[in-house]
Amino acid sequence: MRSLARVVCIVGCAASALVAAPTAQAFAQSGSDAPDPIRVMVGRLDLEKYKATVKGLTQFGDRRQGTDRNRAAVDWIEAQLRSYGCPTERVKYNYEPAPNPNAGRAGGSGRGGTGLAQGGGRPRGFRIPTGVNTDPMKQPDEKLRALNMQPTTPGPRELVFCTKVGSTHPEEMYIVSGHMDGHGWGEAANDDGSGTALVMELARIFSAPDVRTERTIRFALWNNEETGSQGARAYIAQRQALQGKEDPPASGRYPEPKWLGMIQHDMMMFDHGMPLPDGTIPREQRPEADVNIEFQVNSKMAGESQKLAWALEAANEKYATDYPATVGSHMTNTDSGPFQDLIPAISLRENERGVQIGNGWDPQWHQPTDVYATYSDKDFRLGLNAAQTTLSGVAQLTGAALK
Ligand SMILES: [Zn+2]
Repeated sequence: MRSLARVVCIVGCAASALVAAPTAQAFAQSGSDAPDPIRVMVGRLDLEKYKATVKGLTQFGDRRQGTDRNRAAVDWIEAQLRSYGCPTERVKYNYEPAPNPNAGRAGGSGRGGTGLAQGGGRPRGFRIPTGVNTDPMKQPDEKLRALNMQPTTPGPRELVFCTKVGSTHPEEMYIVSGHMDGHGWGEAANDDGSGTALVMELARIFSAPDVRTERTIRFALWNNEETGSQGARAYIAQRQALQGKEDPPASGRYPEPKWLGMIQHDMMMFDHGMPLPDGTIPREQRPEADVNIEFQVNSKMAGESQKLAWALEAANEKYATDYPATVGSHMTNTDSGPFQDLIPAISLRENERGVQIGNGWDPQWHQPTDVYATYSDKDFRLGLNAAQTTLSGVAQLTGAALK
């Protein structure tokens, strides 16, 4: 007798592009008459809204730092955040690149001679070369090529953030972030339009008039990640010493609440698996795609960061509709790095940065093909599941409730 395995879709089933019904679930799974407020908030995330925000970011091409298109993108992001009711501020700094163009560059492959990937993980399986495209002629879309043509120049830079002030503990906060700059002559749709849109969507939902949080949340869109996280470093340099100080005295206002944790989002959508033996990448999202939550085991805050990672993994287990989360210990090469010895810091990604993205699992990475049209709804849905993960995790950590 043939044992025929009947394929059963248990829940979500991204492959069949089922539309989740979070509002109904909110009542069905809460076990009481009152809906679980966090489930209601997660239900306010929407695939089409997420896609529209990624699309909005791609109108500024690769948003390379030090260009007019980058400055226009900062303005656009700020206008969106304000329209959500999230008050914005900017951090201003200066960027003078190192004489060696490769110094401080995010990316690269490996830690010379150790056999280990960046971040300390051990690579396995097939790998294909990675790098940053610098050839405009590799962009076949003439309009996009023209949009990306202005070169970067050294000088003043700005980044924008907005803040949801906590009702009972305004003096403490979590930082939820992504980076809005990109490069490679595409649209930086995945790196890091996908993380930027995620952060903006969370700012929208937490800023709704009926949402109250006990603690503060800051939504930050770093600039200059691709050149070595100079935006995040400027934020730390300018604001670290201000933490927890009431200003003006007895005002109840805390311009820089104490940092409880930092959650970075960088490349959220493409998990098609390892390169095949012939060097190609599978065309479809792999069925076992996941959200990778990484902390850095060789950081001063490794224990606390790991705890934060597991808090988000548990939130994913409870609230994410389609894709699970996996915790890894080799966080690297993104804006959570400058925070990792100071406070609990983690990154969420489509894959592990060191051993997977670094081994060529994302062929669009820093390439002209990182454009909106490259990605399917399954890819966007992985980004949405990362948004569900951080939204529910941070809602729990900050004591979110609905009025
Ligand atoms: Zn990135």
